[in-house]
Amino acid sequence: MSSQKGNVARSGPQKHQNTFSFKNHKFDKSIQTQKINVKLHDGVCQHCKEVLKWRVKYSKYKALSKPKKCVKCLQRRVKDSYHIMCKPCAYELEVCAKCGKKTLLCHLIKNQKKTENIGNKVPTIEEAAEGMKKVMVI
Ligand SMILES: [Zn+2]
Ligand SMILES: [Zn+2]
Repeated sequence: MSSQKGNVARSGPQKHQNTFSFKNHKFDKSIQTQKINVKLHDGVCQHCKEVLKWRVKYSKYKALSKPKKCVKCLQRRVKDSYHIMCKPCAYELEVCAKCGKKTLLCHLIKNQKKTENIGNKVPTIEEAAEGMKKVMVI
């Protein structure tokens, strides 16, 4: 019993993550699904989502040290790196919080058009927005 070697818990939980995630799956499936849904509608478009994912994956993601100024409401409440506006503004305008494009809404309208084409009924912007809100609020 001389010295305890290598038992120091450093800030690198990487090795244990696999075993943990198995347990989590079993435990709170519904919460996890909810979280994933929220993540999917995190205020950014598909393209930006991929970019962010990529950055995280390759450790290129730099977290903000302090909130940035939102380009819409001009308040310092952009807490996500690479975003140009805050989440509330992005939801309100239904644009991507990162690139500012109307991708979320366009995508939704396209989908609705596809399904309702037979009835010759095109949804209004309001209808589409309403549907989008429902998806995002959960
Ligand atoms: Zn804002
Ligand atoms: Zn985007």
